[in-house]
Amino acid sequence: MSDAATRLAAVRATIDQAAHVAGRKPEDVTLVAVSKNRPAEAIEELIAAGQRDFGESRVQEAMAKWPDLRDRHPDIRLHMIGRLQSNKAKEAAGLFDVIHSLDRASLRDALVEAGWSGPTYVQVNIGEEEQKGGVPLAELPAFLAALRDTPLAFAGLMGIPPAGVEASPYFALLAKLARRHDVTRLSMGMSGDLRSAVMLGATVVRVGTALFED
Ligand SMILES: *Cc1c(COP(=O)(O)O)cnc(C)c1O
Repeated sequence: MSDAATRLAAVRATIDQAAHVAGRKPEDVTLVAVSKNRPAEAIEELIAAGQRDFGESRVQEAMAKWPDLRDRHPDIRLHMIGRLQSNKAKEAAGLFDVIHSLDRASLRDALVEAGWSGPTYVQVNIGEEEQKGGVPLAELPAFLAALRDTPLAFAGLMGIPPAGVEASPYFALLAKLARRHDVTRLSMGMSGDLRSAVMLGATVVRVGTALFED
């Protein structure tokens, strides 16, 4: 196996094991390989190993890397996981298959305007951090209610716990919000906190470092 294939198998095994422990089906957890700041050659290795879902956090970088890769691999699904500027909504709509970072009304309106029709996750500011994106907890009910009046395809909730502290209480919070709002899909968990995210209900994990670095 290539190094990339070995790392992919290890990450997938972690996900599968956590799912089993939690009484969940491993196939209910989608692994998104976060390829921001990674060159096309490293991405090709993961594609060769069978990975098909990839995540990028900047439109500019994704526009530079992905059109070529997609031409070669038409079955790739590309996920936008970073903060999206409203003036990039149109470009994003043309390039990505899934957006994980809808976090404000102006972006919602820009995506509608751009004709975006893919699955769209609402990012929640679960740590109530000022510098982080995400709908504030107090505004989430109204934001989700207003979203139902748009043509956007609401897919689920996304959250990024604060750095440097135990992540599981934040995952539990996001899972609780999902239950409260009848949402079944949860985008949460990264290289360092993958296991607890899956145990607490993640249906999508976004993993960079563990897939690209030894
Ligand atoms: C970079 C990034 C990840 C991946 O983080 P790793 O720790 O490298 O696995 C996941 N989600 C978002 C939103 C990111 O920006």
